[in-house]
Amino acid sequence: MSTIVCKFGGSSLADASGFRKAREILLADPRRRYVVPSAPGKRHSGDEKITDLLYRCYAKVEKGEDFSDIFEKIAARYIGIAEELGMDFDPRPLLEETKARILSVHTPDFVASRGEYLNGVLLSKFLGWDFLDAAQVMHFDKQGNFAAEWTNRALGEELKAHEHAVIPGFYGAFPDGSVRTFSRGGSDISGAVVARAAQAELYENWTDVSGFLMADPRIVENPKGIEMLTYRELRELSYMGATVLHEDAIFPVHKAGIPTNIRNTNDPSHPGTMIVSREEDVKSRQPITGIAGHKNFSLISIEKAMMNAELGFGRRVLQAVEEFGISFEHLPTGIDTMCVIISDKELNLHRDKLINRLSDICQPDHIEISSGLALIATVGQGMVRTRGTAARLFNALYKANVNVRMIDQGSSELNIIVGVDGEEFETAVRAIYKAFIEEGPAQGV
Ligand code: ASP
Repeated sequence: MSTIVCKFGGSSLADASGFRKAREILLADPRRRYVVPSAPGKRHSGDEKITDLLYRCYAKVEKGEDFSDIFEKIAARYIGIAEELGMDFDPRPLLEETKARILSVHTPDFVASRGEYLNGVLLSKFLGWDFLDAAQVMHFDKQGNFAAEWTNRALGEELKAHEHAVIPGFYGAFPDGSVRTFSRGGSDISGAVVARAAQAELYENWTDVSGFLMADPRIVENPKGIEMLTYRELRELSYMGATVLHEDAIFPVHKAGIPTNIRNTNDPSHPGTMIVSREEDVKSRQPITGIAGHKNFSLISIEKAMMNAELGFGRRVLQAVEEFGISFEHLPTGIDTMCVIISDKELNLHRDKLINRLSDICQPDHIEISSGLALIATVGQGMVRTRGTAARLFNALYKANVNVRMIDQGSSELNIIVGVDGEEFETAVRAIYKAFIEEGPAQGV
């Protein structure tokens, strides 16, 4: 039987009306057989997410303080949802039991996971679907790494016994059964894992936006939505700051060739963004897929005459960076210069020591840090092979009077990265968007 796995985010299940909308969506297509809920999120700005309240409970438990006041708020949310939906399920006994278990188990992961657990139970009662506790079906190894293959086999078998099921997101368990969570926003990963195990034809990720936008709406006014893109493109965009989906949610479905559809619970007729595995599956192509970027990077430039002929120079540079546990972003090189681009957050912890170490092991003629760099990725599969793409990009920056301080095209052929001064970041993003999206192909170059 063909299957769609649906994940509903916290903002989509924040109150009774969210539950109703989710049920309507689920019942509208018989292929929607498995659902992965997050914990209730914010109902309005100023509200608190259940997961945040639970972490606050844990902080109190750890200090030996009474956490009843916070737990009351949590309980009121679930009781309110059940009552407003007119359910004949009373969550109070389960909430009491949960409160007691928080005290007896009291690990941060267990406490945080209760938001999804309780929401999963409530949703399963509301839908009349089976409940599968994620602690029984999502496996982590002893070190706390997600056991993807073990889970895929065991969960795949288990799902065969359920026509319909609710599997809470965000957590699973260590081999000894104690709860382990993914990182924040991890229900996206749970949904992808369930989609893979169910051999689903589609993973629908229901949230409060209609998919990805081509640029940050805080910078570009009313950017267009992305209708379709590949997982590789998404990875490039997410890495550079586009956040809608947890980045680790890509791997299970990409591997299994299952598309992910980001949909809006409040606008269910909107097609959202479809993410596919293969370039051939992308139906219509804009000249570029999206633009994303970040501020606050530094460029360390290491100069040495005849560096190109000196064996091991690059290795020594990277060795120094590695010794401080720093992960670098880019590595543009010239004949006698090698540059390392590092985020300020990482660099600031070791700035002077790193420079001393580089001077020591590389013996450069000159070494310099320039800070205040912003990186902008212009992403689009195949665009690098399209004549005029780079010309249009740099022409747009030139016309906007933006100075390009670094260029990195990499070998992926789906991304051109430029480094500009932090103050020129917004101007640069707007100029690129305008050249590729608003002006259309003919006028850009
Ligand atoms: N509830 C968890 C969080 O707030 C996980 C999730 O929503 O995906 O991070």
